[in-house]
Amino acid sequence: MILLKTAAHLAAYFSSKKISQKNIGFVPTMGALHAGHRSLLQDAVANNPVTVCSIFVNPTQFNDPADFQKYPITIEKDIEMIESVGTGILFMPAVHEIYPNGIHTLPSFNLGRLEEIFEGKFRPGHFQGVCQVMSRLLSIVKPGNLYMGQKDYQQCLVISRLIEIMHEGVTMHTCPTVREPDGLAMSSRNVRLSPEARKKAVTISQVLQEIKQGIADTDLQTLINNGHTRLQHEGFRIDYLAAANAATLEPVDRQHDNTAIVALIAAFIDDVRLIDNMVITPSSV
Ligand code: AMP
Repeated sequence: MILLKTAAHLAAYFSSKKISQKNIGFVPTMGALHAGHRSLLQDAVANNPVTVCSIFVNPTQFNDPADFQKYPITIEKDIEMIESVGTGILFMPAVHEIYPNGIHTLPSFNLGRLEEIFEGKFRPGHFQGVCQVMSRLLSIVKPGNLYMGQKDYQQCLVISRLIEIMHEGVTMHTCPTVREPDGLAMSSRNVRLSPEARKKAVTISQVLQEIKQGIADTDLQTLINNGHTRLQHEGFRIDYLAAANAATLEPVDRQHDNTAIVALIAAFIDDVRLIDNMVITPSSV
């Protein structure tokens, strides 16, 4: 594996090895890697002659400065994982490499309703920050294939839109959420959970499962109300617990025939914000 830190070095490397866009698989991350990231890297390595993994903790996507300050950094362990799965290139740019003109005059992106609902509503500016960094990274890495996790469901829809608007030639692959044995979705933020909060955190995936399993014979709103009660009883502060059309993310109050829906949760346990989701296709009910 080679470590590169600038766009110029990356471009020079691709050109010296005659690597073209269609041969590059790309896995963007913020580091503190876990088995979820590993599965994205494995997918990219298995399906592309060259895989680039980036580690960049993007300051512009943190609407809460404390969350940015507390973001875990485990670079040596990350490098071990990246190497162990056969990743060719680790790209680790500095902030000024991604934002050469500073972070205060950055472009904005037309994300429509996606920016007003769920994560867009509760984390103002977050998706603009995600698009600012992803747009730069896609221009620098120029991948044919991009690998992102379903764990961040709305982010996948936002990036699909970004690709549609301005990064023709990139195919996005949405990879399944990797979970702990008890069902908790893996997340870099899980290391911040106290032992007590870690035990309770599993309730999120259990509520999603209950919605998925109950939907065939129980009214969706009742399932959502029950989920609310259960999470609140465990001490969660809920940003949202809702069901939405899986393609548009418009909220729904029942599952219509032949339409996939997604149940989504964002909730705090202590001061750690966790998100998770579960897609419910008509055939999975
Ligand atoms: P992050 O480092 O949190 O920005 O995540 C980098 C990529 O890993 C994103 O595409 C995430 O959706 C994906 N990811 C994070 N957690 C998981 C997980 N548990 N399973 C699969 N992918 C994940």
